[in-house]
Amino acid sequence: MAVPLQVQLIEAFGAGVYALTLASHADLWWRRREQRSHAWLALSAFGALLVNLTGAAIRVAPAAYATALLGLNMLGVAVALISLYELAEAIGGKRPGRLARAMEAATLVPILLLPVLPHAVLLAALYLTGVLFLLAAMFRAARHARSGDPESHVIALGLTFLFTTLLYDILSEMQVLVRVEGMPVLGFTVLYLAAARALSLRYEREHRELLELRGKLETRVQQRTTELEAANQRLEQLSRTDALTGLANRRCFVEAAAAYLRASPARLLMIDIDHFKRINDTHGHETGDAALRAVADALGQGLRSGELLARWGGEEFIALLEDADDASARAERMRAAVAATCVQCGDAALRLSASFGLARVARGGALDAAIARADEALYRAKREGRDRVVTDTAGSDAG
Ligand code: GH3
Ligand code: MG
Ligand code: MG
Repeated sequence: MAVPLQVQLIEAFGAGVYALTLASHADLWWRRREQRSHAWLALSAFGALLVNLTGAAIRVAPAAYATALLGLNMLGVAVALISLYELAEAIGGKRPGRLARAMEAATLVPILLLPVLPHAVLLAALYLTGVLFLLAAMFRAARHARSGDPESHVIALGLTFLFTTLLYDILSEMQVLVRVEGMPVLGFTVLYLAAARALSLRYEREHRELLELRGKLETRVQQRTTELEAANQRLEQLSRTDALTGLANRRCFVEAAAAYLRASPARLLMIDIDHFKRINDTHGHETGDAALRAVADALGQGLRSGELLARWGGEEFIALLEDADDASARAERMRAAVAATCVQCGDAALRLSASFGLARVARGGALDAAIARADEALYRAKREGRDRVVTDTAGSDAG
């Protein structure tokens, strides 16, 4: 039987579309195994290609091969349709249930019965299960679309189009409708285009979601970093501060004083509150704490910019003053400020006093040695009656 050129062209076109679909989706599946849809699309195109090629071969092959070729042709139909059902499920992120699996197996039965039953009956059975399968696939895709999967809409439309073209083909074959060649090729082509569109929409959506997620993550990381930096600054601040008086602590003073002395000479002042133990013992620890804060405030008032004051430990303070001739006079004013300080204890106002030891430090001089000399002067102040400033007379370290 001579095949019109128009049909041959349609078949060639179909073969091209199926081969291209098979190759491109097999390749995509190879790169992205978790996306099963590509595997099912490739398999479906393989089935369609098999139908296409065996259909052409049946027309020209010797009669001896007719049954084998028909078997392959029917296998192609079954594979193409089973794969479409699987595709509808895969796009919706589902797997076929038991009934669907049974239907898949049933589609293959007519092929196995080819040697024993009339071909026309088996073909009719295959087409019937095929139609049922397509309907089931359409139903599943529509269901996934309704449950919120946007790409399943596109697949449902593609499957509906394919179903319509196949139905038209069968009805026109039965001469119920006007014969139009190439309806199945048109149906499959549109379906494969729809599937490609659905998957590209999905990747675009996933990409957008990923970008949004990345943006959120970056904001969170930024927030956390800022919080961490603030916490670190606070910790750093705490590690350098005396909690009771708010002054610098010993560690902070040693670092700052060493830096100061690298650049300039200075006067070092050691200060110790007089009879502090008595305040604690007589009026309680809290009054003692209040006295420490009051002395810290009084001392702080006498400082110039760039000078240092710290709590050295217990009821002792340390200061680094400019190396100026008025250093002794300034120490004296600081002493007077402490002596003028009162701490309220109930109705009574407690008077405080402190003893001061002053020593000069040359530029680059050792802080430890200067502290020892200032301490020595301080203890002389204690021995000489307290509430006074004594200046170290041993002189400063060589600079
Ligand atoms: P002196 O005039 O010879 O310096 O006599 P003092 O009593 O001041 O000297 P001493 O070193 O015997 O006493 C220091 C006291 O300071 C002992 C300790 O209980 C008290 N002290 C140390 N740190 C704190 C503190 O943070 N708060 C309070 N309330 N007391 C403290
Ligand atoms: Mg002391
Ligand atoms: Mg003391």
